[in-house]
Amino acid sequence: MSDRELKCPKDGNPLLVVYESEKIGDTTRVSIYYKCQVCGFRRDIERLEISRGEQGLVVKKFLYSSS
Ligand SMILES: [Zn+2]
Repeated sequence: MSDRELKCPKDGNPLLVVYESEKIGDTTRVSIYYKCQVCGFRRDIERLEISRGEQGLVVKKFLYSSS
C-alpha cells in the first residue's frame, strides 16, 4: 500500500486516521475518519455497522466518496 499522506485543506497539517465506535442497542457503529488535530477539520472515510444476525455477525459498510 502506498502511503498517501493527506493534508488538511485549511492549514496543511497532516490528517490523522481516527476510529470511533459506539454501541446503539445491538448494533456497534464504527466511524473511521480523518481528523486535523490543529483545527478540528474532519473528513469521513467509512462507517461500519456491526450487528448480530441469525448466522453470526452482520457487517454493513457505508463508504463516503471523497471529492
Ligand atoms: Zn487543519
